[in-house]
Amino acid sequence: MTKVLINQKLVDEQEATIPYNDRGFIFGDGIYEYIRVYNNKIFTAKEHFERLLRSANEIGLDIDHTVDSLTELVKELVVANKVVNGGVYLQITRGAAPRDHRFPTPPVEPTLMGFSKSYGRPFKDMDQGISAVTTKDIRWLRCDIKSLNLLGNVLAREYAEKYNADEAIQHRDGIVTEGSASNAYAVKDGVIYTHPINNYILNGITRQVVSWICEDEGIPFKEETFDVDFLKNADEVIITNTSVEIMGVIKLDGEQVGNGEVGPITKQLQTRFNHYIDTRCI
Ligand SMILES: *Cc1c(COP(=O)(O)O)cnc(C)c1O
Repeated sequence: MTKVLINQKLVDEQEATIPYNDRGFIFGDGIYEYIRVYNNKIFTAKEHFERLLRSANEIGLDIDHTVDSLTELVKELVVANKVVNGGVYLQITRGAAPRDHRFPTPPVEPTLMGFSKSYGRPFKDMDQGISAVTTKDIRWLRCDIKSLNLLGNVLAREYAEKYNADEAIQHRDGIVTEGSASNAYAVKDGVIYTHPINNYILNGITRQVVSWICEDEGIPFKEETFDVDFLKNADEVIITNTSVEIMGVIKLDGEQVGNGEVGPITKQLQTRFNHYIDTRCI
């Protein structure tokens, strides 16, 4: 029986229910994190929980938690569900209250919900590469917050599905921002380019790991904007996130990227990523 975390308590899946008027359900008024588990341990926990606390702060949500208390909660969930390799989803909403756009005054207890998933690493896709399509970025202007408002992301991902692609890479007026649930990169002449950290993209933890790897390996990592044409003419296209790690895109809008195989820089990043799995799990 899988256990779900509801307001600090582990309950059986069937008993994991949320009130009908929870603001997460009504307004998407909440934030979340998705964290990877490798060999029973949590990967880059500090970075993820710091980002969760930042997201909460950015939406004016007061939560009675620290990086340490959140780490403990997630560890309990991982142990209860015997997750060896997989991931943990954790979300916090502004709580249940009569429907009103204004924040409840006085504030109500936030609703915390977490569940886990077991699955292995995506080695086959890492070796073979994946496909993507480009699409307009129609999301709001605070994409830096990992919020529950994912309608733009959902529509982008469904657009990819319609064209039998694995991911949708979004652009604003031709400038590439990021994937529907991933950060995006173009490699040209040995240099990695990716959108700078601002309100147009989510500051991915895997993106941060990529920047560490580039530092280790002496690969130039340029946080500069580029357009869809540049992406299409890149030697390699990469997407990253917590669940797919570092993935080469070998087909973009139906056309081959580079020589149509996962490129050398992508492979170099994938190899070095293992070092961080070994050193950044707690
Ligand atoms: C979570 C997410 C990412 C990737 O972040 P990671 O911390 O690497 O998992 C990228 N873009 C969006 C829109 C996301 O929601």
